[in-house]
Amino acid sequence: MAATVIDGKEFAARVRGQVATHVTRLKDDHGITPGLAVVLVGEDPASQVYVRSKGKMTVEVGMKSVEHKLDADTSEDALLTLIEQLNNDPEIHGILVQLPLPQHLNEDLVINSIDPAKDVDGFHVSNVGLLGTGQKSMVPCTPLGCLMMLRDHHGSISGMDAVVIGRSNIVGKPMAQLLLNDSATVTIAHSRTKDLADVVRRADIVVAAVGRPELVQGDWMKKGATVIDVGINRLDAPEKGEGKTRLVGDVDYESCAAVAGAITPVPGGVGPMTIACLLANTITACCRANGLAEPEGLTA
Ligand code: NDP
Repeated sequence: MAATVIDGKEFAARVRGQVATHVTRLKDDHGITPGLAVVLVGEDPASQVYVRSKGKMTVEVGMKSVEHKLDADTSEDALLTLIEQLNNDPEIHGILVQLPLPQHLNEDLVINSIDPAKDVDGFHVSNVGLLGTGQKSMVPCTPLGCLMMLRDHHGSISGMDAVVIGRSNIVGKPMAQLLLNDSATVTIAHSRTKDLADVVRRADIVVAAVGRPELVQGDWMKKGATVIDVGINRLDAPEKGEGKTRLVGDVDYESCAAVAGAITPVPGGVGPMTIACLLANTITACCRANGLAEPEGLTA
């Protein structure tokens, strides 16, 4: 039987709809407009695209969107001063500094200068520690989106065998932690893992966050496994015309879909969930800042 396709585009639209409902409620019942500030340093084209679509979707759900675009040679002091202003701004509930930063800026220092309560990317060490100890935190958006899709598909993932391929701070590690917090039995694989195919073959859930196009093969897969493909890789596609490209994941879709029980496509899987979860995190941060109940189903 063909695998169920987990439609991230449709799911993300649903999440944004829930967020919009909560924004309306916050405005009508409490006179509060949730605000998200995005800081972009430099002119990285991919980052500019991300920031634009984040701003657009923030406005679409009814939130206040503030964008700070700084020159590539902005000093660390100037950036830290801006973050301090945003930390102290009561109309801003979420702050996101678009990564990567230009080389001369210390990424850890910058991220850890954000008020953890406004750290909607969930990268501040306080949030990492809170997540690691199973406490209420801000959860990184991409893994949160993956978790939401897994919970939606399975109901509960308790007791399932999960493999996360990749151990980055922004995807792999927090993903593994979230799966563990939901009582899955979790293995983290990485570039030094000896027999990746054998590790993947044992898993009911496979999350691939590697950055290697179509690495994960169908004959590595346990029959009926759920596959979450985080990878976004752009490949040349001369068959589509000169200079054309196509996006592929870290999973070989055709061969894996033939064996898996459910799979996320690329594009249209995890990608759209990331921005939806950024908006969800901003609502969560806003509710916490105002001592209000958090909306259900929008956080871990
Ligand atoms: P990183 O490059 O930071 O991490 C990649 C991880 O994969 C590392 O832990 C690395 O291991 C591991 N790895 C590399 N090669 C292999 C291999 N051959 N076998 C097993 N493990 C391997 O990437 P990110 O976590 O930032 O991103 C991963 C992917 O997800 C990328 O394609 C990225 O574009 C995508 N992404 C998508 C997002 C979305 O919104 N959908 C958001 C963020 C990322 P080691 O630690 O040993 O080097």
